[in-house]
Amino acid sequence: MNDRMLKGVRGNMTTLKFDEDLCKTCPTGACLVKCQYIDVGKDEAKEEMLKIIKGEDSIVLDDCVTCYACEEYCKRGNHPFYLITQRREDKGILTAPRAITRQWINIGEPRGKYKLGEMKEKALSFGFMAQFLELVKGRLFEDVMPSYFFGQEYFCNVVYIHFANTSIIKERLPMVIDNIKKLGVKEVVFMHDECYAAFTSLAPAFGMEVPFKSVHYFEYLYNRLQELRDEIRPVGVKVAYQRPCSSRLCPDTHHYVEDIMKLIGVDLVDRTYQGENALCCGSIFRMMYGYELAHDVQRRNIDDMVAHGAEYCVFNCHGCQDALATEIAKRGIKPIHIVDLCRMAIGEEPETEGE
Ligand code: SF4
Ligand code: SF4
Repeated sequence: MNDRMLKGVRGNMTTLKFDEDLCKTCPTGACLVKCQYIDVGKDEAKEEMLKIIKGEDSIVLDDCVTCYACEEYCKRGNHPFYLITQRREDKGILTAPRAITRQWINIGEPRGKYKLGEMKEKALSFGFMAQFLELVKGRLFEDVMPSYFFGQEYFCNVVYIHFANTSIIKERLPMVIDNIKKLGVKEVVFMHDECYAAFTSLAPAFGMEVPFKSVHYFEYLYNRLQELRDEIRPVGVKVAYQRPCSSRLCPDTHHYVEDIMKLIGVDLVDRTYQGENALCCGSIFRMMYGYELAHDVQRRNIDDMVAHGAEYCVFNCHGCQDALATEIAKRGIKPIHIVDLCRMAIGEEPETEGE
């Protein structure tokens, strides 16, 4: 099955949809003006984007730290970060040492070790992360489980945009789409934020057709909690939310954080580094750009949580949770995945609270 899964997509040519006229007439240059890591004004922002479009050198190709945020900052429907990624690859500008990039590419290589539950028309996707099997428990998921799938064959591969490598995505993502299609599912609830973004942002941006309905698990949780509304007991805690980089690729789903917190009686603190101003968890920064940047970003972020009186830090992404859990626990804040917080609200025991 593994070999068959690879056939038929090699050589598939995909091109980024990017409208340079939108940049030429852009009134804001918001993609780069709002960038937290590159300091440019409006005119310079537009000039740099036009250089990138033309394939010329730009400070952005050297200084971008791959936070993905410009994908959200551009409100004109362009894909500045995907273009930056493409141009870096065209020019051979590496964001990480070759050995690290190769190691990560190998992690996502299909190996025939995928796992399928009892497949129905609606299924949960875990990307390639088996730990979701521990998280996806209880009444919140009883209407879908045990219909699930995970493994490298179903892994979105979005992470490679951190590595300025779009060619591996162009090779693998059509294969992944085809693999999911072959499962016969009509609707997929993506438990991994980045996977959802792969099928609703990255694939369409590169002209790939997605033949199933993609649902973000925030939307699923919100709707399921509405169904269980009578059983919700307000959790009554103050929380900070750690927004992952992948959320920048699907910003339309971000409102569910506030919606869910309201529904379960949780006070989402109004802090500096939230929404569009969120800070990265630092794990990618540590690996690619050094400890100094990673520590600076983590310190500002955690100080902000503490200053606003957060008792819990709510995570969407396991990568963010792994990067920050120990540090926030040292500062007296409990790490918890949003699924576990929702389970607490309906009287269930969370799996990861305080880990
Ligand atoms: S990518 Fe978007 S925000 Fe940036 S210059 Fe182009 S249109 Fe404007
Ligand atoms: S990805 Fe982040 S660091 Fe890179 S240009 Fe966009 S906003 Fe700036």
